[in-house]
Amino acid sequence: MGKPVPTARPQKKAETKTAAAKAVLERTAKKEAAAKTAMGRGANKTAKKKSVVGPTNPQRVETILQRLAEHYANAVCALHHRNAWELTVATILSAQCTDVRVNMVTPALFQRFPTPQAMAKAPQAEVEELVRTTGFFRNKAKNIVGAARKIIAEFGGKVPQTMEELLTIPGVARKTANVVSGSWYKIPLGVVVDTHVMRITQRLELTKSTTPEKIEQDLMQLIPQDAWIDFSHRVIHFGREICIARKPRCADCFLEDRCNSKDKTWSTH
Ligand code: SF4
Repeated sequence: MGKPVPTARPQKKAETKTAAAKAVLERTAKKEAAAKTAMGRGANKTAKKKSVVGPTNPQRVETILQRLAEHYANAVCALHHRNAWELTVATILSAQCTDVRVNMVTPALFQRFPTPQAMAKAPQAEVEELVRTTGFFRNKAKNIVGAARKIIAEFGGKVPQTMEELLTIPGVARKTANVVSGSWYKIPLGVVVDTHVMRITQRLELTKSTTPEKIEQDLMQLIPQDAWIDFSHRVIHFGREICIARKPRCADCFLEDRCNSKDKTWSTH
């Protein structure tokens, strides 16, 4: 009798190999499934991210701009003026003062000192008296006379048109420069941010900033440049009529469905 053929061991080896291969296949399948799930989650996340409607979503901003345009199609600067110089003076006077009050003061001021040349020679005390009711009258009178002298000395008696030059004039900061360049020269150098624009863009969550300078930068990113001038005029009118500082008229507001402000008030009296 010969020795029995040793078949058991190779069979075991083959079984072990098959089991190992199965395990590898299972692990690979699991890994692939896990990878697919992760990809799926990632894709969902991306989709969710894309579908988020934030306050600065372009569509929302566009809706706000359109509705403002519909309601205040012809909004213009409320300060009375006949030229760039008068608008510069009126805007300097409007700091911490209503446009109505400024409009009461400027006719007599411009009658007495009608040009930058006349204003440059004006006695400071006389100008102070003429602008007294606008508040901070000493500083404002000093700035107006200083502005006239600067415009004559460096700009040939004509209010300049660039931001760089405008900012060198006494009493002129970005707001005044934007008012003059936008309303008179029709050049959108920036966005006018006054108290109304500041309050309303914050209420409408178009900005989280708290200083006029930063708010202006945020709005310049958000709003097309060709809409900068009209946007400010319209928001200022909206702020006077509807979105009033202390008691916004939310029941009458055409932006109510786009507004999440905590300051909403519904009282109609
Ligand atoms: S709903 Fe009220 S708070 Fe909001 S923008 Fe309109 S008036 Fe202002």
